[in-house]
Amino acid sequence: MPAFKTLDDLTDIAGKRILVRVDLNVPVTDGKVSDKTRIERVAPTILELSEKGAKVILLAHFGRPKGEPVADQSLSLIAPAVEEVLDQHVAFASDCIGAPAAEAIAAMNDGDILLLENTRFHKGEEKNEAGFVAELAKNGDIYVNDAFSAAHRAHASTEGLAHHLPAYAGRTMQAELEALEKGLGQPTRPVVAIVGGAKVSTKIDLLSNLVTKVDALVIGGGMANTFIAAQGIDVGKSLCEHNLADTARSIMETAKTAGCAIVLPVDGVVAREFKANAANETVDVSAIPADAMMLDVGPKSIDLVNDWIGKAATLVWNGPLGAFEITPFDKATVSAALHAAEQTKAGKLVSVAGGGDTVSALNHAGVADDFSYVSTAGGAFLEWMEGKELPGVAVLTKG
Ligand code: AMP
Repeated sequence: MPAFKTLDDLTDIAGKRILVRVDLNVPVTDGKVSDKTRIERVAPTILELSEKGAKVILLAHFGRPKGEPVADQSLSLIAPAVEEVLDQHVAFASDCIGAPAAEAIAAMNDGDILLLENTRFHKGEEKNEAGFVAELAKNGDIYVNDAFSAAHRAHASTEGLAHHLPAYAGRTMQAELEALEKGLGQPTRPVVAIVGGAKVSTKIDLLSNLVTKVDALVIGGGMANTFIAAQGIDVGKSLCEHNLADTARSIMETAKTAGCAIVLPVDGVVAREFKANAANETVDVSAIPADAMMLDVGPKSIDLVNDWIGKAATLVWNGPLGAFEITPFDKATVSAALHAAEQTKAGKLVSVAGGGDTVSALNHAGVADDFSYVSTAGGAFLEWMEGKELPGVAVLTKG
């Protein structure tokens, strides 16, 4: 990975106006922030800059307002939660450019923190429009990006600004990039990837990239059914994308050429209803009843997965092995998560996991804190697993 500048390279910042791109796109229920994880993740960067005497000016998006102000997507709704997490006063400006921003910044003392209104209230944000970027840039001397989760977008506040101001990675961005580097960039081998979840169709690029990079790819969840069916095995009523049989076969071919072992379930837990505690039985994949669906991988497959985790020096994980939200179909996911956590705690494994449901699955297993790194970035994490260049990262590393 090319080097990027971090806060360690920032000296003498007292009095400097630092534009910090953060991820405040948090879930809100009944007008209250229901999960503050993303705010907690960016707090170290904000507090470090504030303690060093900088004027910390926060830029973020919230929701998808499509370039116009929308009252219920105002960052003023999030400001109280930011204050609570930081335990510091956070001022708010009703626009991220123009007079409201300029006046609020002029009123700042060294060490103060200011949150600017939703960048996506302007069309220029998502279009990365030169004029809008220049307006944003007027408000700062230095740019820090701490929003890895938005780095797959080349927007004004995630990419454009880095062309105007000296650019640095914040602490969360730094931690994320270092963890990802250990996961797939320069990993210690053998590298094993676990990919589960519902469908192959959403993860074709990801699977195609992984088979060229890892030593073994464990496929679980609903998507395993498509691979099993592609080998001519009847999967009954299991979730299966029969139209992707050719894609599945081609991914297996690429894997063979690249020397990547593909590990598919050999048995499964099947049921007739998709609901908690539905009557279920364990069968070999060659014996899935015509009226049943596989909702989890079976005990023999769990042993296989855990053996591969045992052999791995590095594990990259996205997607649950079964329908983990409903018991008892969470068994394989929980078992593999516990095993990976144990290996990690014993210092034998670097484990990097991320992407939507994976975080909830690891939380469900109670081990999210025991992994080497769990990314809360959804789309950006997946694009990284797909091997794509993330514009918000590229701009920090190229210059
Ligand atoms: P994804 O967002 O693609 O990672 O998919 C996650 C979803 O896949 C979860 O909601 C799981 O319940 C679902 N899932 C995992 N395994 C299966 C399965 N065998 N059959 C149906 N759904 C599954």
